[in-house]
Amino acid sequence: ELALSDAKTQGESVVFFDASLHLHAGLEGPLSRALQRGEFELHFQPLVDVSGRRVVCAEALLRWNSPEHGLQMPGTFMPILERSDAIVEVGAWVLREACRAAALWGGVRVAVNLSARQFASRDLRSVVLGALRDSGLPPACLELEITESLMMQSPERAARLLAAFQEDGVRVVLDDFGTGYSSLGYLARFPLSGLKIDRSFVSALEEKPDGHDAAIVRAVVGLSRDMGLELVAEGVESLGQVELLENLGVRIMQGYYFARPSAQWRPLNVPGVR
Ligand code: C2E
Ligand code: MG
Ligand code: MG
Ligand code: MG
Repeated sequence: ELALSDAKTQGESVVFFDASLHLHAGLEGPLSRALQRGEFELHFQPLVDVSGRRVVCAEALLRWNSPEHGLQMPGTFMPILERSDAIVEVGAWVLREACRAAALWGGVRVAVNLSARQFASRDLRSVVLGALRDSGLPPACLELEITESLMMQSPERAARLLAAFQEDGVRVVLDDFGTGYSSLGYLARFPLSGLKIDRSFVSALEEKPDGHDAAIVRAVVGLSRDMGLELVAEGVESLGQVELLENLGVRIMQGYYFARPSAQWRPLNVPGVR
């Protein structure tokens, strides 16, 4: 990603460079061996239905436990992985691990983020179905998180793929909703199960409860309800935000206020949990 703050002015021309590439050039080698070495791990963060006071889903978030560099967040290594086909293999591992964990927990719903290359790969559907088959997790317990930009790479293909997942009974939701090139037309054309409204809208709420961000959240609540989409608010950090969101009609929330992503997280309200 090109950040404006990384621009160096040289005479008349402005030279940009990729900050993540620069800072983490040394990670590329170790990263390419991380999967075989078992250095990846999943952390889970619950999605909470505040009206029913229960956990409805857990999002799997990838971490890299590097012996040399310590625990790494996706922000540091995902841009590197996404530049190569390695992300497809790592993504398949995430799918298998997340399904395995959710099955062990007694069939709790689990959400898995997909990357662009993974979404474009021909065997995504068979990888997904394989992860479900091997784990015994019911398809309805798997939720795939995609972004608007990912769908727009190849809208025709995305529409077919989403229809196939719908037929398989696998849920697909739109992550970071409101930050991409949101075309509302896509909501009508693509068979989605839900929307995750980006945390930038949530963080703006407390400062300006009657501002434009609140208006957008209110509109998305109405839109989701009328289109039968499940709405989730991400990045909920305070009780104040919970109350404001509840008043706007949001029921399902995810964020540090409820729980940080954790390797130790286990659903407590699912019967048969060890
Ligand atoms: P995302 O899918 O939008 O995930 C939510 C991010 O927000 C996570 O960051 C999570 O830790 C963070 N978060 C959760 N609650 C709060 C909160 O209350 N406040 C704040 N400030 N942040 C909160 P994380 O784990 O660093 O992941 C960043 C992004 O990396 C994810 O954004 C997702 O796009 C990507 N990612 C993570 N795991 C995977 C994966 O397995 N595969 C792929 N393709 N992408 C992944
Ligand atoms: Mg996500
Ligand atoms: Mg998100
Ligand atoms: Mg986000």
